[in-house]
Amino acid sequence: MTIPLIEIDGITKIYATTQQPAVDNVTLKVPAGDFIALVGASGSGKTTVMKTINRLIDPDRGEVRIDGAPVSAIDAPQLRRQIGYVFQGAGLFPHMTVAENIAITPRLTGWPAGDIAARTAELLDLVELPQAFGSRLPVQLSGGQQQRVAVARALAARPRIVLMDEPFGALDPVTRDNLGNAYRALHNRLGLTTMMVTHDIQEAILLASRIVIMKGGRIVADVTPKEILKPQSDSDVVALIAVAMRQAAKVREIAGPGNEGQTG
Ligand code: ADP
Ligand code: MG
Repeated sequence: MTIPLIEIDGITKIYATTQQPAVDNVTLKVPAGDFIALVGASGSGKTTVMKTINRLIDPDRGEVRIDGAPVSAIDAPQLRRQIGYVFQGAGLFPHMTVAENIAITPRLTGWPAGDIAARTAELLDLVELPQAFGSRLPVQLSGGQQQRVAVARALAARPRIVLMDEPFGALDPVTRDNLGNAYRALHNRLGLTTMMVTHDIQEAILLASRIVIMKGGRIVADVTPKEILKPQSDSDVVALIAVAMRQAAKVREIAGPGNEGQTG
């Protein structure tokens, strides 16, 4: 049996301010190449789980392993440089140019200047931004373009793992769809392993290979996009997809017979 790339093994996190665990005995094995969508209501523990992977948070109980090695034994800054992280909102440094934002990790890692410049140019191409944008400030870019920069920054040091926390949440639906598809293509092409927090169940269904649903600090479902669309799914799954299913049915109804081809 092969070791999963990421293994979250029975982690519990209780913040000092509350008695209730924010994350309650969560176990999740993520083989290399998986694209996991982590969904669930606000406060269900998604961000906390993600942050235990790159040690922005250490769990009170349980352990996270990468390639079988406990992350607690890896120096946290070093670990973070090996794992791409896309923050909620783009999270770019406003006083730094786009190129400087992208180059943060390579610079911290001590890459030679020439290598950094070459990598920055390569990354702008990868996320399909013009080279000239490198010298702009984030404020001079649209929301979608800023998000592309955030993805480029996360990929700069060639991580195998990318964690994304509601990366496309603030974008309009068309930009969101474009960027989601562009990222999915990168995930495939670069052989990444991705965990993405999203509120949008449709986005989860369209992008992920696995959908993990959290509720009250626990994982309540772990299904494929195909499985989630089956009518006999459990009540937590039903509640989560009810709105999306109703909307899809309504659109089909408005389109009427013979127009199905135009709605997909
Ligand atoms: P999600 O990302 O699903 O919205 P979080 O992991 O951010 O959930 O939060 C889970 C629970 O832990 C929530 O009840 C939240 O209020 C609480 N929490 C998160 N971060 C902290 C913190 N730094 N201090 C205290 N409580 C926190
Ligand atoms: Mg969150």
